[in-house]
Amino acid sequence: MGLQLHGLTPIARSDVKHSPHSSPREYPGSSGAASEEEVSTIFGPVPSRRLGRSLGIDVIPPKTCSFDCIYCESGRTTCLTLERQVFVPPERVIRDLRSHLSDHPGQTDILTLSSAGEPTLYAALGDLLQMVKGIFPELPLAVLTNGSLLWDPVVRKDLRWADIVIPSLDAVSSAAFQKINRPCGGLTIDAILEGLHAFRKDYRGQLRVEVLLVAHHNDHPAELAKLARVLRTVGPDAVELNTVVRPPAFPGASGLPQVEMEGALAHFAGLNARIIGSYQGGGICRPDDRLDQRILDLLGRRPCAAIEMAQSLSVSPAQMEQSVEGLLKSGSIVAYSHGGALYYCLPTRGHQRSRDG
Ligand code: SF4
Repeated sequence: MGLQLHGLTPIARSDVKHSPHSSPREYPGSSGAASEEEVSTIFGPVPSRRLGRSLGIDVIPPKTCSFDCIYCESGRTTCLTLERQVFVPPERVIRDLRSHLSDHPGQTDILTLSSAGEPTLYAALGDLLQMVKGIFPELPLAVLTNGSLLWDPVVRKDLRWADIVIPSLDAVSSAAFQKINRPCGGLTIDAILEGLHAFRKDYRGQLRVEVLLVAHHNDHPAELAKLARVLRTVGPDAVELNTVVRPPAFPGASGLPQVEMEGALAHFAGLNARIIGSYQGGGICRPDDRLDQRILDLLGRRPCAAIEMAQSLSVSPAQMEQSVEGLLKSGSIVAYSHGGALYYCLPTRGHQRSRDG
């Protein structure tokens, strides 16, 4: 049964056929060679605190999202929408992925659909995930989503190809949901919860729900108790508690100290819940003559500290420092401090704009 979303913008469905036995269809422009101006759809590996060295697959133009979260590390949403589109042909993503994996062997733990935006807005998602699983079966495939489109049966069907799906759920009360996630008009928390329940029912992979806690927004014991109650009815494989660590889109969004995170964790007893810890990277350091571009690709998606970038891109701290200094000098990146740490980002990121605004 379809969900009733009062006042929801009609969603453009892709004409992609979703049969597990069918071959992915061809998309316009899918067979052409790369042009000089094309930005890679692959970035990282990103130093993910929960997945390890996660090679990012980004199919969404920045910053296209169904939410405009106050804590977003990718800055303010500039295109707030629920309309799904094929922003890039899946064949081009596969080509970028092949090229990256052959240039940087052994540096990836997992492939992750993640972006400065919402990945389920990609209308060819099912085809892309199917192709990636078919071509790179040895690498686990994850999708990070805000869960806002799970009420759509096509989206739920698309996601079945992923080994791990991590939807976020920051609040179950409408007021807190609106305040933190600032959703596209017409999108309600009730519809999202209904979608999450339906997805759990059919999905055979690993479902982990991320809850991001923002001080004075969704950390009240009553909200946490309510959230935990709802999650028990969903029955995810795990719950991951997170907080604001990187510079947020809105300066008022701040994280919880460790002691309060542990207090919050107590509410989620029986849900296989944990607090997401710091990234523990490492491995072999290699010289990389494309390092500047890889740093720009990474910072194009989210701000990072130098040590995180060195660990995830497998270069020495000294080599990273040298590249960062050159990029700062040329004005390609900017630095600013947040929570006592120094972060780097592109000069055009929304963080700076939101601070001014
Ligand atoms: S945190 Fe995720 S869901 Fe929220 S605005 Fe940013 S990209 Fe969108």
